[in-house]
Amino acid sequence: MLATRVLGKTGLKVTELGFGAMNVRLVKPPAALKTLGFVLRSGINFIDTSETYNREFPDGTRSESEALIGEAIRRWDSSGEVIVNTKGHGYNREACLECLHGSLGHIGIEGKGPDRHIGKTSVRLLYMLHGLDGERWDETQRTECVQKALVPARERGLIDHIGFSGHDQEVMAEVIRSGLFEVVEMRYNVFDREARQTAVAGQSSRFTSRQVLDLAYQRGMGIVNMKPFGGNGMQPLLRVITAEEVMVQYRRMLRYCLAEPKLSVVIPGAVTEEQARECYQAALEGPLPEAEQRLLEEQADGIIEVVGSDYCRGCRHCLDDAPEFECPNAIPFDEILVLESRRKVAQAVGVSVDHLKELYGQLPVDASACDRCGQCQDRCIYDIPIVDMLESAHRELGA
Ligand code: SF4
Ligand code: SF4
Repeated sequence: MLATRVLGKTGLKVTELGFGAMNVRLVKPPAALKTLGFVLRSGINFIDTSETYNREFPDGTRSESEALIGEAIRRWDSSGEVIVNTKGHGYNREACLECLHGSLGHIGIEGKGPDRHIGKTSVRLLYMLHGLDGERWDETQRTECVQKALVPARERGLIDHIGFSGHDQEVMAEVIRSGLFEVVEMRYNVFDREARQTAVAGQSSRFTSRQVLDLAYQRGMGIVNMKPFGGNGMQPLLRVITAEEVMVQYRRMLRYCLAEPKLSVVIPGAVTEEQARECYQAALEGPLPEAEQRLLEEQADGIIEVVGSDYCRGCRHCLDDAPEFECPNAIPFDEILVLESRRKVAQAVGVSVDHLKELYGQLPVDASACDRCGQCQDRCIYDIPIVDMLESAHRELGA
C-alpha cells in the first residue's frame, strides 16, 4: 500500500506518489483511460492536470487531460475520494474565473464543497495559477486575482484550495512570501536540487530549488513535486554514463525524490499503463537508501559538470506551454537538443557517439534547416542557447 503524507496547511492526506497527467494526451483516449484507470485502482489519490494539457491528432481525435481524468473517475465507479489539482492561465479576476469554470466543465465536476463529485466519487479540488513568471505574477498582484477570484471561489465551494506552479525560483520565492497560496508545485529532482548544482551549472538565479522547497516548507505549504525525472531528456543522459536499463534509472530518480520528507507528493508523469505501474512499484520500494542517493547525486553532478547549464531537459515546455509552438521550418529542435546534450556527455566520458549520429540522421528535418529566426529561443524555461546548440549539434552529429 502506498504511504501517505499531509499536503501542508490544506490538511489533505495524499498518497506520496501522485500522478502527473500532462502526458496522457500523447496517446488517444482509450490508451489514456487505461493508464488513468490503473492509477485510480492502484490507490493513488492525487492527480495533477491543467487546462492546457491537450493534443489533437492528425485524424482529428483529441486527447484532453482534464476531460480524460473526469471520464476515468466516472468509469472507476468508486465511492472513494480523489484529489484533482488543475491549473489555469487567467491572472486577473475575469480571465481566472473563466478558466476555472472551463476546467470544472471539462473535468465534469458536479456539486460544491463537501458534495463535489464525479459519479459516485467524491472530489477534492485544488486550483492553481499555472506557471507564474514575473509578468504573470505582476498581473496577479495588480489585479488582486487571488483575492477577487480564487478566495471567493473557495468560499463558494467551487474549489477547496489555492496554489500556484512556477519555474522561476526568484519569482516563486516572492510568491510564497506573499502568503496568498496554500500549495506550490515545483520542480525537484536529482539534477535540480541544491546550491552546488546551481553553482556548477552557472545559473543566474539566486534561489535554488532547495531554497524554494525550504521556504515553502517553513511556511507550512503543501509541496507538489513535478519533474522528478528532470524532464524526459535527463534519464538518457544518466544512461550514457551508467549504461543501465531505462526503467532502473527512472525508478531510482523517483525514489530519490520520495526520500525528501519535505515534499508532500511526487507526481511522475506516465503515458502508458506499464510506465504508471513501474512508478507504482518503485514507490512501494520506498525512499532510495542514503548511499544510493549519494551515488545518484555523484552521477548527476558528473553530467552537470560536463554540460554546464546548456543542456536540454526534454521537458517540452517550449513546445507545449500555451500557446503551443512549432518551429516554422518543422525542425524537431527539442529532440536535436537532447541528442546534442547526450553527445556532450558521451564524448566527455569517452563513449562512442555513433548511435547518436545515426539517430540524428534519421530525423525528418535536421538542424541545417534552422534560419536562426530565434522564435524558439524565448520559449525555453531554462534559457538554454537553443540556436547555438542546434548549430553545434549539426556540426558534431551531422558529419
Ligand atoms: S531559430 Fe531555428 S529552430 Fe528555432 S524556430 Fe527559428 S528556425 Fe526553428
Ligand atoms: S529547449 Fe528548454 S523548454 Fe524546450 S525541451 Fe529543452 S529544456 Fe525544455
